[in-house]
Amino acid sequence: MKRMMWFVCALALAAAAPARAQGKLNVVATTEDLASIAREVGGDHISIEAIARGYQDPHFVEAKPSFILKLQKADLLIVVGLELEIGWLPPLITQSRNGKIQQGGDGYLDASREVEKLEIPTGQITRAMGDVHPLGNPHYWLDPENGKRLAKEIADKLSALRPNDRPFFQQQLATFTARLDEGEKRWLAMMAPYKGTKVVTYHRSFPNFAKRFNLDIVGYVEPRPGIPPTPQHTLDLINEMKRQNIKIVMVEPYFDLKTPNAIGRETGAEVLVMPPSVGGVKEVTDYFKLFDYDINLLINAIKKVGAQPTGAR
Ligand SMILES: [Zn+2]
Repeated sequence: MKRMMWFVCALALAAAAPARAQGKLNVVATTEDLASIAREVGGDHISIEAIARGYQDPHFVEAKPSFILKLQKADLLIVVGLELEIGWLPPLITQSRNGKIQQGGDGYLDASREVEKLEIPTGQITRAMGDVHPLGNPHYWLDPENGKRLAKEIADKLSALRPNDRPFFQQQLATFTARLDEGEKRWLAMMAPYKGTKVVTYHRSFPNFAKRFNLDIVGYVEPRPGIPPTPQHTLDLINEMKRQNIKIVMVEPYFDLKTPNAIGRETGAEVLVMPPSVGGVKEVTDYFKLFDYDINLLINAIKKVGAQPTGAR
């Protein structure tokens, strides 16, 4: 028995030795979504922290000194890109004085490179259009297909930084991808009966989600991205919702519910506080639970209002 114990200990030590020799890779992600995916891919070979919390508006994150400390120690920084973090991240990176994670450095990963991008504006962008992102809509992680692409980017970057651990990261990636494939099949099946359901969202956070799960986003509570509701726009939206019999309003957790609730009262629509991110509500603790939660919330609301799936004509 004693010998057996010794043997088990020796095995455990041997397994831990290579990781210990190099230590864990210190990874920082700008959002909890990226952190969740990186955690799946990196397993116990990395330590991972997120900067923005999922219940915060990722466009506007208040910079804290603790963020700079995190960045100072980072071997790798993963960003959503497409200018999502442009309002707050660049000064933090500069102030970290960490050469590895400066844009273009080995430890800087823009996760958006391979994802499907929607709403890439054509023509000139002016300030009058609101907070339009010239590279496309940055809320792309709400499609599991993009989740898989993100995971692959992260696995490849981790492998490049730690070539000896490549087989481990690739195995973790395969496991994550298989789980996500399974989840996606389930979510698509759940949403299939509601194909073409028309909805309104507060901000343009859900285009990739809507495309994957066949929702039709007809309008926005914001008159333009990043611009707060105006009485005229709200009135127009209410009329349009009545005309098209739209009964669902999806609101990100960080927006004021006053206008959405007023719209709900006028139109009989259900107002859903729908997190676009991991950590947006306390139940959503990882990337899988994000889809579980949002899809269940949506389906329960559709059933409640009895909205007719307009795509089933
Ligand atoms: Zn946005």
